[in-house]
Amino acid sequence: MIDLAIIGGGPAGLTAGLYATRGGVKNVVLFEKGMPGGQITGSSEIENYPGVKEIKSGLDFMEPWQEQCFRFGLTHNLREVVRVSKCGNMFKVFCSDGTDYVAKSVILATGGRPKRTGIKGESEYWGKGVSTCATCDAFFHKGKEVAVLGGGDTALEEAIYLTKFASKVHLIHRRDGFRAAPITLEHAEKNEKINFMVPYVVEEICGDGKEVTSLKVKNIATNETSTLDTGVIFVFVGYEVNNGILVQEDKSMLCECDKWGSVVVDLDMNTSVPGLFAAGDLRVEAKKQVICAAGDGATAALSAIDYLETTHAAPYLEAEHKL
Ligand code: FAD
Repeated sequence: MIDLAIIGGGPAGLTAGLYATRGGVKNVVLFEKGMPGGQITGSSEIENYPGVKEIKSGLDFMEPWQEQCFRFGLTHNLREVVRVSKCGNMFKVFCSDGTDYVAKSVILATGGRPKRTGIKGESEYWGKGVSTCATCDAFFHKGKEVAVLGGGDTALEEAIYLTKFASKVHLIHRRDGFRAAPITLEHAEKNEKINFMVPYVVEEICGDGKEVTSLKVKNIATNETSTLDTGVIFVFVGYEVNNGILVQEDKSMLCECDKWGSVVVDLDMNTSVPGLFAAGDLRVEAKKQVICAAGDGATAALSAIDYLETTHAAPYLEAEHKL
């Protein structure tokens, strides 16, 4: 019997585990299908987490999190969760190896993943010049020319944001028309720093083995190919939240999600199902930043403690563990 099951060991899940165990919840289990750390471990540099003044790789940055977050008794269960269901006022956590667990409460922290394009060079230079986060990486390209790939709202909004840092933003899109809101498109068109490259595709992301140095692009109207010298391509071709574990046997979702599949929560990270909380990139309106995910994780854990104390009426808070 688990008091609190946390699904996902990224910044949100690890922080939730730290707060729950330090807050006195006894049997807290973090299910993580891989190594704890989350998406940020794929990044070569992070420098926007307050209190960490050195620029670190994502892997080095997350290393002390694990030591700290497991210090107060959080248990790591190295399993992939395939489904979470509610039975009465308990939850059942089903894993891919056929095992299942009963939990009094659950925090969903499975994050998400930016969609990849499959362009040659993308995997090799992922996090080394192929970026999916302008907030994270714009600063590294101050005064330089950058490329943005995509034709939706995110691509255009991020292209506009990047003009505050870059000398020029090459916006590459395979179609003449954009899927973005007309007002966003209008703002982008008025911005002199944005160079519209339509209808263009990126054929290859080229580099020197360490980082991106240029892009091979093709105008698909004329079939003309050329080289774009830039050290970065921001790819905004969609985002998938990892919400598969919410799909029930009858194909319904365990809790309310928006049209993109993000979990709807209130400010306490409560979902539409009592005892079920969501934190981090998985939830609606997520800012998709480490610090925001960690903040969500702390909030969700505090809410779970309240829930366990009131709903399951047991002495979850140990006197010696004060928040
Ligand atoms: P995630 O980090 O996605 O963690 C979710 C975890 O859940 C993963 O470990 C995954 O393995 C696990 N999981 C998923 N499904 C299951 C399952 N079914 N069963 C068990 N485990 C499961 N943010 C910044 O603030 N600054 C930056 O500089 C920055 N740079 C970035 C660079 C890159 C290349 C990327 C991809 C992201 C970057 N971000 C940055 C964003 C940041 O990484 C995310 O906002 C943050 O990691 C979200 O945390 P999370 O805990 O919500 O989810």
